[in-house]
Amino acid sequence: MQSITVLGATGSIGTSTLDVVARHPDRYRVFALSAHRRVEQLAQLCGRFRPEYAVVPDPAAGARLRELLAADGCGAEVLEGTAGLAWVAAHERVDAVMAAIVGAAGLEPALAAARAGKRVLLANKEALVTAGRIFVDAARAGGATVLPIDSEHNAVFQCLPPAAQADAGALDAGGVRRILLTASGGPFRTRALHELAQVTPEQACAHPNWSMGRKISVDSATMMNKGLELIEAHYLFGLPEERIDIVVHPQSVIHSMVEYLDGSVLAQLGNPDMRTPIAHALAYPERISSGVGALDLPALGRLDFEPPDPLRFPCLRLAREALRAGAAAPCVLNAANEMAVAAFLERRLPFTAIAEVNERVLDALGGRRAPDDLAGALALDEEARALAAARIPRLAA
Ligand code: NAD
Ligand code: MG
Repeated sequence: MQSITVLGATGSIGTSTLDVVARHPDRYRVFALSAHRRVEQLAQLCGRFRPEYAVVPDPAAGARLRELLAADGCGAEVLEGTAGLAWVAAHERVDAVMAAIVGAAGLEPALAAARAGKRVLLANKEALVTAGRIFVDAARAGGATVLPIDSEHNAVFQCLPPAAQADAGALDAGGVRRILLTASGGPFRTRALHELAQVTPEQACAHPNWSMGRKISVDSATMMNKGLELIEAHYLFGLPEERIDIVVHPQSVIHSMVEYLDGSVLAQLGNPDMRTPIAHALAYPERISSGVGALDLPALGRLDFEPPDPLRFPCLRLAREALRAGAAAPCVLNAANEMAVAAFLERRLPFTAIAEVNERVLDALGGRRAPDDLAGALALDEEARALAAARIPRLAA
């Protein structure tokens, strides 16, 4: 029986995780759940999954949750804030932690799980972009197993030889030449370029293949998501930027590929449903059912591929530049992007200005020294957010 903490339980990944967990009550029990704003939904999940702890951001949310849990006769202990998240991520009775908080806000608890040597199911790519080296070193020192949930990275992981799954340093010895990340191209892949300045948050969040949270949906529309994934792949698999390529594949059926020295290319395919990578990471190295239906290739008929359009997707270039520059650049780019996306979702910034905010902040702060600990990464993240906040009103005009 595995004991699991689900951070970000009310989100898209959190909900899919609990769907898979509920299919296997003989294998998994829920130790702790967390949520940010949706306290009512968290209370319902507590009623259903009976965790020992539930974590919310502050005392007001804590008081509300305690009331709801008491009315429901649920005995979960309520914790608050980042300290509460880190506590349930590192607790000695926890085996696996699903890190599914969105944004750099998820860094501290993910890092706590890594340090404590947990099986870390990593959906929160921003944690790795903000503090890649720090996170990887902490996982190694703590003896943690990091299993990627992001569908592309999970696909790459599945296509690697076992020695390279166990140790990112072993990709060369395993004959890996390059990683090919697939990208859907998002909702605006074929939209006329001159219309992009006017697109709305609703249009940006209407992804053709995946149902996801709003922030990652906007990132998919700008392809910043693939940029973040490029950086994520670098830290997870230890390959340099020039050995990670991106190919647009609008059907999202091939989730990514690994190319070997002999010319073989291994791919992982499946219906676009996050329960597949979640079930894979939960049960690895075993396999369990996920609730995802069989892939019907004849019904699909064809799979298409094209290169990403650099004019349409400037964020992809920024992410490559940030990864090449290293140092503070990935952390700074991620922070700027979180601010720009939030402003776009609140209709304070046009879609096309997201890339402009990102570029200005990256230019201004990307050359800083790499942070060497959590406090340094959080301070840099904070500074980049402040600069982005100052630039947003000007770029909105
Ligand atoms: P979501 O917006 O649906 O859910 C986010 C979760 O995080 C919620 O439970 C929310 O309560 C919590 N949260 C938000 N802000 C918080 C804060 N400041 N502090 C603590 N908790 C907070 O997002 P999602 O789509 O589930 O994505 C979660 C993560 O997984 C992201 O990093 C995303 O990039 C990654 N991911 C998602 C998908 C997907 O299909 N949804 C695919 C790959 C990777
Ligand atoms: Mg992905």
